[in-house]
Amino acid sequence: MLGGLYQKINFMKVFIVCSASSFTSGPGRARALLFADKNANLAPARKAMTTKAIPIKTLSFDELKEKLVAMGLKAYRTGQIFAWIYHQHAVSFNEMTNIARAERELLAAVFAITAPTVLLVERSSDGTRKFLFGLDDGHTVESVLIPDEDRQTLCISSQVGCRQACRFCLTAQSGFIRNLKASEISDQVLEVSRVLRREGSRDITNIVLMGMGEPLANFIELTRALRTITSDKGLGISPRRVTVSTSGLVPEIGKLGALGLRVNLAVSLNASTDEVRDRIMPVNKRYPIRELLAACRRFPLEPRRRITFEYVLLKRVNDSPEDALRLVKLLRGINCKVNLIPFNPFPGSEFQRPDDGVVRRFQQVLLDHHYTAPVRESRGRDISAACGQLRERATIALP
Ligand code: SAH
Repeated sequence: MLGGLYQKINFMKVFIVCSASSFTSGPGRARALLFADKNANLAPARKAMTTKAIPIKTLSFDELKEKLVAMGLKAYRTGQIFAWIYHQHAVSFNEMTNIARAERELLAAVFAITAPTVLLVERSSDGTRKFLFGLDDGHTVESVLIPDEDRQTLCISSQVGCRQACRFCLTAQSGFIRNLKASEISDQVLEVSRVLRREGSRDITNIVLMGMGEPLANFIELTRALRTITSDKGLGISPRRVTVSTSGLVPEIGKLGALGLRVNLAVSLNASTDEVRDRIMPVNKRYPIRELLAACRRFPLEPRRRITFEYVLLKRVNDSPEDALRLVKLLRGINCKVNLIPFNPFPGSEFQRPDDGVVRRFQQVLLDHHYTAPVRESRGRDISAACGQLRERATIALP
């Protein structure tokens, strides 16, 4: 629909799909394919955990090393086990052939290699794939894979549901259920990567935390997961290719910067005045725009890196040229770019998507002031609506 507006800028073009791509009425609806990915359901890896077994992926490298040494194993086994799990995608200790059989049996008695199950995969005609993961307590989360010429971006979730209550977001409507554990966050990457390797496709190159949930509201587990995702011993994705998106939790933005993880920061600004932002994003009452932007100014940026501001365009709410001008003033002095996201409606949503001309006019103001300001058109419009829709449908579809 907005194809002409879609700009190809070589940075993540994914979040819109995770958060709000509209599939319900999308043009390619008939071609959408919904299926249970039986192959992706790797039964041997999903053996029921014995009551005492420690889910090994919940342990950091150092924590595992400590446990192995306490069990009388050599510390260097830690590196071997990590390589088997995160590089070779091993699903059982039996596969770890450079470890003596007796030790493998000991490991299997103490630890379990568990993972979320791929319950459903939806494929879009444009190559986007949406994965629905079943967690061990029966809850589900989504990840979205967006292939592109030069990258393969995975958008992952950080919580089941969300507490932020943004009025334009479908995930908000289901409320908050629980935080994901670190391993449940990083396992989304590992499991999709496993599927890609099996089919001989290009591996994941970029990660964005723009799926379900507010990543910074799950700070400890998020940062543990980020270490697994970015460390060479773990999934080995460069932090330059990982982006954490937040609705604007000011203290946690500071904490994330101070940790020195070197991941990218994206901030969902979505308004140019506190009055409007208060209305559409309740978090603004706690951390108003001034404080949020001050935190962004303090966020440590490496050379040639920028903060991304996301701006969901809502018809007649925040889409006027005056809004755009105010935005320009607000962002002055911040090394940033702005991603413009025309609202993706979902059933029952109170907002509308602005007309193309309005979107272009808004964008032009930013371009005139020398901002990079791509319009992020949704990909995979034919497979599901806002983040959470696959989950909702699956609740109905699955036994
Ligand atoms: N909680 C985090 C990450 C999840 S939302 C955050 O707020 O950044 C990811 C992005 O999707 C945010 O920029 C949000 O503003 C946007 N978004 C949510 N619902 C949307 C919708 N219906 N249409 C367009 N963008 C939406």
